[in-house]
Amino acid sequence: MLLNNIAIEAKSVNKNYNGKQILHKINLSIVSGEIVSIIGPSGCGKSTLLRLLSLKEKPSEGSIIVNKDFGSLFYSPQTPVLMPWLDVMDNLLLPFRLLGDHKDTNLENVVFEALETVGLREFCNHYPHELSGGMKERVVFAQLLLHKSSLAFLDEPLSSIDEITKYEILEIAREIWTESSKTIIWITHDVSEALYISDRIVLMSQTPSNIMKEVKIEKTRPEMNGFLKDSYYNDLKAEILKLYE
Ligand code: ADP
Repeated sequence: MLLNNIAIEAKSVNKNYNGKQILHKINLSIVSGEIVSIIGPSGCGKSTLLRLLSLKEKPSEGSIIVNKDFGSLFYSPQTPVLMPWLDVMDNLLLPFRLLGDHKDTNLENVVFEALETVGLREFCNHYPHELSGGMKERVVFAQLLLHKSSLAFLDEPLSSIDEITKYEILEIAREIWTESSKTIIWITHDVSEALYISDRIVLMSQTPSNIMKEVKIEKTRPEMNGFLKDSYYNDLKAEILKLYE
């Protein structure tokens, strides 16, 4: 049983692959409507934890409960899932078509709007091989906008995006979050990105990995210019990086 405001509860979760322990005694509660980032050294088990939290895989020991009210979950792996034989528009229409929704003539307009939001409207007829890594990641945010589930798992969604564009997409992500009150669990290796987007940051140790610390962001989210100069965020960044020295 989960309390009403809890989206996910992981208790004493261990995960082993081929006899090697990757995750050790992970305890984590995600509150509905939160954006939680997971950071940690490469190979420590962040993606593994995300697959477990999104119920793609089972823990070796321990339990993970996801609030049933969320229905289907949105999960985007590190490499965006796009069908190579479909253009951007048809890729975004595909989930609706698979659900048998062929008749809604407004659907294309809804997809156009989502593409407009992520700055890809003029690329709607491009195929995945014609898109840069960053553009594919923008498509993920269009998928997120269109997906009905309010529980989303994103594995390094901005890893191919340059520093300048990153904040533009982070703004879009925050708009999506504000408008739809989605609960988002977000993996990143970029501490600034985590500080900019999150309500809470989960810091993982080396393998066998557990949660070293959770950092709650107490301050109201700033605009990008304010954020880059804000000593509250700069001090937190230094504190987090020190933990990994
Ligand atoms: P991170 O996301 O932090 O970079 P991962 O979760 O991808 O780390 O991987 C953590 C460790 O688990 C790595 O050593 C990886 O090789 C191993 N691993 C991940 N998935 C599997 C799998 N399906 N089978 C075997 N080993 C795996």
